[in-house]
Amino acid sequence: MRLNSELCRRNPEHATKQRWSRPIKVIGPVRPATDFEWTVYGDVLLSSQVGKTLHEAGFSGFELRPAEILTSTETPVGREVFELSPNGWGGVAPVESGVRVLEECPFCKRQVFSGYTNPARLFDLDAWDGSDFFVIWPLPRRIMVTGRVGELFLKSGYTGARVRPLGDLPRAVAGKLGPGHLADWFDGARLAEISQQVARDD
Ligand SMILES: [Zn+2]
Repeated sequence: MRLNSELCRRNPEHATKQRWSRPIKVIGPVRPATDFEWTVYGDVLLSSQVGKTLHEAGFSGFELRPAEILTSTETPVGREVFELSPNGWGGVAPVESGVRVLEECPFCKRQVFSGYTNPARLFDLDAWDGSDFFVIWPLPRRIMVTGRVGELFLKSGYTGARVRPLGDLPRAVAGKLGPGHLADWFDGARLAEISQQVARDD
C-alpha cells in the first residue's frame, strides 16, 4: 500500500472522502442523552468533561476535535462537544483473523477485505504502537482500546459506548470490509508514518 492520491483515475467512487472537512456539524439534542454520542456516519462525540477525564487518565492515541451540535434549524445548541478521533495504530489484521485482501484497485490501491472469522486474533502485539486508543486496519470504525481504558469506562459508568473483549466482537453484517484509504482516517504526519509502517510490513 502506498500513500494515495485524492482521486482515482479509474473509479471516481474510490476518491478519498471529504473526511477532513472539520469541525463536524451535526443536528442533535440540546442535552445529550448519553455520555458518548454517535453521528449517522459513526463518528463519536463526547463532552469536554469526558475528554478531560480521558486526558487526565494519561491515555494516548486519540485527539479531541471540536464539533458542533445544531438544532434542526441549524442554530448551534451551545453545548461543548468534541469528536473522539483515534490516531493510535494497531497494525493490519493478521491473516489468522480471517481478514484478507479480496480486491485491490490497480490505480489508487484501494482495497476490499474479507470480514474476520476469528476476532480474537485481530490484535497483533508486534504491530501495535502501544497507544491506548488505536485502529486495527481494515476496521477503522471499531475503536480499539487497552484494558486500562476499559476499566475506566466501567468505573465511570459511561453511557453510549460499550467496551468488550476483542473476541466478543460481533461479525460484520456484510461479509466484506471496505474501509477506503488510510487517508480517509488519518491525516498529516500521522498518515505518513502509518503508510510507511504498512509498506514496511507488506
Ligand atoms: Zn481506485
